[in-house]
Amino acid sequence: MTPKIDRFLAERQPETPCLVVDLDVISANFGALRSALPQAEIYYAVKANPASPVLQRLVELGSNFDAASLSEIERCLAAGADPSSIAFGNTAKKMGDIASAHSRGVRLYAFDSEPELEKLAVAAPGSEVFCRMLVANRGAAWPLSDKFGCSAEMAVDLMIKARDAGLAARGISFHVGSQQTEPGAWQAAIGEVARIFTALAEKGISLDLVNLGAGFPIRYRDEVPDLPAVSEAIRTGIARAFGNRPPALMIEPGRILTANAGLIRAEVVLVSTKGYGERVRWVYLDIGKFGGLAETMDEAIRYALRTEHPDAETGPVILAGPTCDGADILYERADYRLPMNLKAGDKIDILDAGAYTASYSSVGFNGFPPLREYYL
Ligand SMILES: *Cc1c(COP(=O)(O)O)cnc(C)c1O
Repeated sequence: MTPKIDRFLAERQPETPCLVVDLDVISANFGALRSALPQAEIYYAVKANPASPVLQRLVELGSNFDAASLSEIERCLAAGADPSSIAFGNTAKKMGDIASAHSRGVRLYAFDSEPELEKLAVAAPGSEVFCRMLVANRGAAWPLSDKFGCSAEMAVDLMIKARDAGLAARGISFHVGSQQTEPGAWQAAIGEVARIFTALAEKGISLDLVNLGAGFPIRYRDEVPDLPAVSEAIRTGIARAFGNRPPALMIEPGRILTANAGLIRAEVVLVSTKGYGERVRWVYLDIGKFGGLAETMDEAIRYALRTEHPDAETGPVILAGPTCDGADILYERADYRLPMNLKAGDKIDILDAGAYTASYSSVGFNGFPPLREYYL
């Protein structure tokens, strides 16, 4: 990974497991994203990594923030974010949390249903709102499923109701699913959004904002389309759907800003087999699903691993976490291979682990403490 992280690990020899993040990589990622999509306002998806040093760095860089809870909003404010730079993007919010966010100055809200719209009209009167549209998440390694968004037909009706309720109907959002590897997914969604814009224009409502969500993939173990490929698909999708009247754009990236900025240093606890002469070894690490590697659920996110034996002969392994829960297996089917001479006490690095790890770690299941975090 980065020289800064390697130096820290060599000099400090921190207790494992721990997440080590190089904040300068987040700055570089932010710059790359801004130049790839200069017309889009960046709202960092706080859930990817809500650590204060990350939020502070993004405030310095001029980022906006997509928060899903009152506590995420408070973390952004504490990091120095202006309330006008925060969107409350969860489509299912408690009335009291909306009112608290509104009283703190948050003015941009998401919804995908009429009851949520009614809450916003009462607790955040006059605010700007966007309606989340349901889109297929095919091609995403970490889909957001059917949990969020409504049909295009319903979105049209809800935006009319939003205006009638005194809210500022700004636009439409969608999310193509996280770690999305098909650039065409954004184009299909943009086309649907344009049809909603047209239907509403006929009713006298002119929307001006398309929230493209996120889903930008990063390279873990396997190749993915690069950022230029995705941004080009978005650019042509917008041009095709909106011609010479492009809307304002916003994006809510999480993974692509923080994932490759950090690694998890872990330790091998045990290497064993379940019977004599078995080829496949079980490798138990000191981190598992409950220690922060939740995205290995269904072996969805397949991290690249680095050991201290880069040139050793390798053999097939099943990778498991340290807890006594049968579900705490990381990879059984994903064809992982590790050095034949790997043994207990060896260090192992889980690469590109700066997103969706530390904040997923349990408060102490089986007595294992939450993941330690270092921000450099
Ligand atoms: C999780 C989430 C994101 C971030 O998605 P990434 O694929 O990690 O960039 C953005 N928007 C919403 C609404 C989300 O739930």
